[in-house]
Amino acid sequence: MRRISIFGATGSIGQNTIDLVARVPGEYHVVALTGASNIAQLAADAIRLNAEIAITAHDHLLSDLRAALAGSGVEAQAGSQALIEAAARPSDWTMSAIVGAAGLAPGLEALKHGGILALANKESLVCAGALMLETARAHQARLLPVDSEHSAVFQALVGEDIESVERVIITASGGAFRDWPIEDLAHATLDEASSHPNWDMGQRITIDSASMFNKAMELIETREYFGVRPDQIEVLVHPESLIHAMVGFVDGGLMAHVGPPDMRHAIGYALHWPERRGLPVERLDLAGIGSFTFRAPCETRWPALRLAREVMQTGGLAGAIFNAAKETALDEFIAARIAFNEMASIVEDVLDSVAGMPGHIDAAMTLDNVAQVDHVARQEAHRVAKKRAG
Ligand code: NAD
Ligand code: MG
Repeated sequence: MRRISIFGATGSIGQNTIDLVARVPGEYHVVALTGASNIAQLAADAIRLNAEIAITAHDHLLSDLRAALAGSGVEAQAGSQALIEAAARPSDWTMSAIVGAAGLAPGLEALKHGGILALANKESLVCAGALMLETARAHQARLLPVDSEHSAVFQALVGEDIESVERVIITASGGAFRDWPIEDLAHATLDEASSHPNWDMGQRITIDSASMFNKAMELIETREYFGVRPDQIEVLVHPESLIHAMVGFVDGGLMAHVGPPDMRHAIGYALHWPERRGLPVERLDLAGIGSFTFRAPCETRWPALRLAREVMQTGGLAGAIFNAAKETALDEFIAARIAFNEMASIVEDVLDSVAGMPGHIDAAMTLDNVAQVDHVARQEAHRVAKKRAG
């Protein structure tokens, strides 16, 4: 039986992964499932899938998890060290679907033990792309993209030589505020930012879609994953979210990947790779859909895209600073302490101020250094946010 682990099992990607796995009883041996606060869901899935171990990220919830798993034979653990230890358990396929920089350490650990790491946690590549790729290479592990755009590019490249790629186009729905007057963005509420026109996802990535920080991170993810230059990567607003990405080749041909906005396609592709198997996703009625529309992204509306290009230009640990500042600014917006459109300016201020501190951006890319700049960038982001509020 194929051994699998799911990090972030209780989230949107995690639950979609479990949906696919649970459809084929007897095919998988579930090693580890992890979650954070939703103990009831974590325990129910661990028992249903007969997992070896369930881990909550929160130490104080260990007794709740133990109680929920009592008598089931599933082991319970808690805390960030337990997550890393779980990633070291032998597994053939591991889903990395924790949200945020917290997904980096368990993903890296899984790579050190070979096998396949299906990567939904784009923050890992934004914060430490070179380290992830180098670790995979050193341990003969395989990274597979689970973001819909990157899975689409990956599929369009099957049988192609990366040298024949001229450009990569990743599409963006434009999120909740695509058609809002720009001056209204300052008054966007949390509820308004938390509803996506096409995709059903976790709250954080949904808000990041409205601000385009999600696409900004995906620009960096594309550069890291496929090794293309930043000037070869384009963002295209495509409100229907049916074409997920296109690859343009030197002969002028474009290969587009078309499919419904359902993450089970990208997850399933990574789960069965290198095979293709049937998946329970909607089959598109193209005549009924009628047309696909496109427009160029407006960088005044979405400054995050410009910031991502600056981060790629800077290199080093700028991605880790960018991500940490973005996560903190997002926390501040969720807590209603800053306005929606202040997130980008806070990230920009943090990038500028940390760039002026010696020994951060240019430090070697190790897990410790990434954690260190992440910490500094979060402190800076809190300071900048407080200053603005005051
Ligand atoms: P989610 O918020 O629905 O789920 C996040 C998961 O991470 C949950 O299991 C939660 O318990 C766990 N978690 C949260 N904080 C944690 C912490 N500090 N330590 C350990 N675990 C923690 O998020 P999601 O939408 O499923 O997204 C997961 C990842 O996949 C993100 O990196 C996101 O950018 C990426 N992604 C998501 C989608 C999507 O459709 N949802 C698409 C592409 C990429
Ligand atoms: Mg995506």
